[in-house]
Amino acid sequence: MEYKDYYKILGVSKDAPESEIKKAYRKLARQFHPDLNPGNRSAEERFKEINEANEVLNDPEKRRKYDDLGSNWEQVQRDRETARQYARPGGWSQENFDLGDFFATFFGERMSGFGGTPFTTGPRPGGDLQYEIELTLEDLFHGPRKLLNLFVGETCPTCHGQGMVMTSFFREGKKQVVTSAQPCGTCHGTGQIRSPREVQVKIPKGVKEGSKIRLAGMGGQGIQGGPAGDLYLTVRVLPHRLFRLNGYDLEADLPVWADEAALGMQAPVPTLGQKVLLKIPPGSPSERRLRLSGKGLHKPGGKGAGDLYYRIRVMVPDQLSARERELFAELRRLRIEGGHDQTIRKNLE
Ligand SMILES: [Zn+2]
Repeated sequence: MEYKDYYKILGVSKDAPESEIKKAYRKLARQFHPDLNPGNRSAEERFKEINEANEVLNDPEKRRKYDDLGSNWEQVQRDRETARQYARPGGWSQENFDLGDFFATFFGERMSGFGGTPFTTGPRPGGDLQYEIELTLEDLFHGPRKLLNLFVGETCPTCHGQGMVMTSFFREGKKQVVTSAQPCGTCHGTGQIRSPREVQVKIPKGVKEGSKIRLAGMGGQGIQGGPAGDLYLTVRVLPHRLFRLNGYDLEADLPVWADEAALGMQAPVPTLGQKVLLKIPPGSPSERRLRLSGKGLHKPGGKGAGDLYYRIRVMVPDQLSARERELFAELRRLRIEGGHDQTIRKNLE
């Protein structure tokens, strides 16, 4: 393909101001207009060429790209095949409308900036996706597979990942069919849309608040055979109705009646796994922490697990039966007689 010198076609210098280009175009367009040259094929060709040159030089952005092209022209020619792939049935360079092959190749390759996304042909990797997932402590403990409903990137069906679409229209004033690239309205030029997908995620053991789970290849689809992006899930741990999380340890309150605290007992208590029997030693005061070893969350790298602590809260009944009142009174009498009353409020004296 021949390099087309648009400046030469319009008969202006490379540093010609916009006004001069406009003037030159108007003059030449009048001169070679098909209406004024009926049946003259070379005038028609010339007219097309003039329009093509004007299309580029009259647009500051396209002109800048065109100016940049000069030294890269051989590369652009090598890329021509890619450009042909890019042109689809109904697309532009195949139909070869007014804007010639040169323009098509050049701008098919080089046009960029639609929707803020650089446009290039050829394989491109899909984008990485970031999601937050909310996990319960049970999720963290069991590390199950979890079915997530995510919106993941997929190739835009409208523009097939190109980010732009070709539109052809008849330009009344110029009496020609013009085909131009427009940013794709479906994906706003990104080439990707987000569509709902169910994703099975294996929750690895040892994740905690803020952990990132990487799912390779589960991100946005690659463009034209490019590799898919990755999906990153940031873990947010939901509050639990019983357990507070402290690193890999868990803590929960254990209400016990005064007599249970005094006499001791075995209490069935929940863990994130099965219920266990927790031994409450006789004489357990409020705030004492009873440890269930290894019943916390898994630590990463198979380094065991944290512990589960039950913190004792000694409760007293707020309504007493007559008999209970009698017995509590009896307890008080025995305590005073036994001399146990002197020490309990010593710190307040
Ligand atoms: Zn699109």
